[in-house]
Amino acid sequence: MTKLWVHAELQGGKPIAPTFELLTKARAVADEVEAVALGAGASDAVDELGRFGASRVFVSDDAVYDDYLALPATHAYEQLVSEHEPDGILFPLTYDSRDVAGRLSGRLGATLMSNVTDLSGPGKARTAIFGGRLDVDVELSGSPTLLVVRPKSFPAEPADAAGAPDKVTVDVELPDDVRKAKRIERHEEKQAGPKLEQARVVISGGRGLQEPGNFRLIEELAEAIGNAAVGATRAVVDAGWVPYSLQVGQTGTTVTPDVYIAVGISGATQHLVGMKGSKKIIAINKDEEAPIFQVADLAVVGDALKIVPELIEEVKARKG
Ligand SMILES: Cc1cc2nc3c(=O)[nH]c(=O)nc-3n(C[C@H](O)[C@H](O)[C@H](O)COP(=O)(O)OP(=O)(O)OC[C@H]3O[C@@H](n4cnc5c(N)ncnc54)[C@H](O)[C@@H]3O)c2cc1C
Repeated sequence: MTKLWVHAELQGGKPIAPTFELLTKARAVADEVEAVALGAGASDAVDELGRFGASRVFVSDDAVYDDYLALPATHAYEQLVSEHEPDGILFPLTYDSRDVAGRLSGRLGATLMSNVTDLSGPGKARTAIFGGRLDVDVELSGSPTLLVVRPKSFPAEPADAAGAPDKVTVDVELPDDVRKAKRIERHEEKQAGPKLEQARVVISGGRGLQEPGNFRLIEELAEAIGNAAVGATRAVVDAGWVPYSLQVGQTGTTVTPDVYIAVGISGATQHLVGMKGSKKIIAINKDEEAPIFQVADLAVVGDALKIVPELIEEVKARKG
């Protein structure tokens, strides 16, 4: 009997979207799937976690898990693992979750693998190496293994016949020294339109736009199309043109929209790993040898600064 746990990271009292992707995958590769939800809103999340296949959910609504970074959750996990002995724990690849996973690995001496893109059980997982050029399957020893999984690696699908899960209240005494790093402010980047990871159309701009002021072309195109999100490459994020929250790629957000439009983007592997799962890729680049064209369904060779304004006018005209 293989037992996998899924770490249900909560934001604003709700499990983040990758939680449901992890539960869906866990169902396919383990006999028993359970979830752990720590922080405000945990109890309210139980039914939803059950709907995606968790047969048992460990919960604590204690705000200490929201107020203090990683250490309270690590402490709670240490005790839960020794009591319930899961074979593996799946964490989403987010700042908070990987912090918990890393610390837990240190405490338990457990094998940890990050940037997992697929798995066939707690002891076998896949990741990409050499900047995404090669996939490798890795065998992991020990129990539990800790697998930190890239968001959007799997679809999120509710279980066919999911009953109400058992709710187990986490009763862990937390020592004072877990209250070390306090969260004093949560800043949410303001953004118009749909979230990057949820949008059906994503338009991203790269260094080929030449200068920061030209990035507005990407925003105008997104606005003209409607309900589209704006993304960017790391090159323009690092240059300070747009905030990090727009970065698509290995060290940014992974997106899998119906349509991805890459404007002035070369197609470095670190960018490709974050968008190559898109259903249709349209690339605009003045260099016909640009690597982005190798993954593009539609290649437009030319100057983005001329093409995009025309495209905006065309979209507006067609929409009337
Ligand atoms: C550890 C690591 C992690 C990284 N993570 C990420 C990540 O998450 N996301 C990411 O994006 N990158 C990431 N990178 C950076 C990545 O390697 C590339 O440097 C980056 O993606 C390049 O961005 P770019 O395509 O905007 O710029 P460039 O590579 O400079 O490409 C610009 C493109 O614009 C074209 N162009 C120029 N002028 C025009 C024009 N007028 N019209 C049309 N096309 C034009 C050029 O032909 C060129 O292809 C990472 C790198 C490392 C080392």
